[in-house]
Amino acid sequence: MTKDGATGRSHGAATDHGLGKAAAPGRRPGAATDHGLGKATAPGRGIVYLVGAGPGDPELITVRGLRCLRQADVVVYDRLIDARLLAEAPPAARRVYAGKAPGRQALRQEEIQALLVRQARAGRVVVRLKGGDPFVFGRGGEEALACAAAGVAWEAVPGVTSAVAVPALAGIPLTQRGVAASFAVVTGHSAGDAGLDWSALARIETLVVLMGAARLGEIATLLASHGKAPETPVAVIENGSRESERVLIGTLGDIAAVAAAAALSSPATIVVGEVVRLRPALAPAAASVADTPAGRRFA
Ligand code: SAH
Repeated sequence: MTKDGATGRSHGAATDHGLGKAAAPGRRPGAATDHGLGKATAPGRGIVYLVGAGPGDPELITVRGLRCLRQADVVVYDRLIDARLLAEAPPAARRVYAGKAPGRQALRQEEIQALLVRQARAGRVVVRLKGGDPFVFGRGGEEALACAAAGVAWEAVPGVTSAVAVPALAGIPLTQRGVAASFAVVTGHSAGDAGLDWSALARIETLVVLMGAARLGEIATLLASHGKAPETPVAVIENGSRESERVLIGTLGDIAAVAAAAALSSPATIVVGEVVRLRPALAPAAASVADTPAGRRFA
């Protein structure tokens, strides 16, 4: 199926997998043994797996993602990837850091894409390991397009996105009967400059903002000025699913001050909406709550 350099995942791929799609990443029967322990496969048989690693806790990668990782010849990984996941790749696999720290980027996006294409063309199994889900603010779509344009086989291996999982682990369901029947996920990276329709966003029952920690105050002000009640509860979850997780609770009116007092840093997921009030009943006993007056309000 891939001999013609097929692009993307083809429909009917399941029939090519000896064990069915769910059981076997890789598009060829016996792929697991072909790709064992870091040996490059024959030229022309390379593939790029765009794998979601989940929000942080290494146990939150999918079974398929882990299988891909264990077959990788090359792993190209981002900044927030846990070292325990990288250790799952074969010892001989090449590990390439492609992360982006604020203000500093190891590889430019075009360089990452060129690397993926080059390695797959050399016949290697390439795992592009990204935080959360590759297609949620992960530039996975761009990398898939680059593979497709180059005629390189690729497959998406979805991940557990922090947008949903980080609130869940903090005791905040994004929807709840009688409380919220809709949610939206937006980037807060550019806040008011991003061309987002904040009056529409202010009407969404549960709003999840990623990449918004640095502009939390601006985001809260934008929502309030577009009609969201200032007493709307807000949760900010820093380092969700990790040992270092912190949860800050406040309202649209005071969350910026709460975050400043707690020296909030990224990565952080912001949740705005009444569902935040469910946390005291749903948060596991071990979950941390910032020791601030606002933090204790709902905890
Ligand atoms: N593709 C990723 C999102 C990439 S954007 C996904 O699906 O999860 C990066 C943003 O995700 C961060 O700025 C932060 O808002 C959020 N994020 C990622 N990991 C997180 C974590 N462990 N805790 C809280 N937020 C996290």
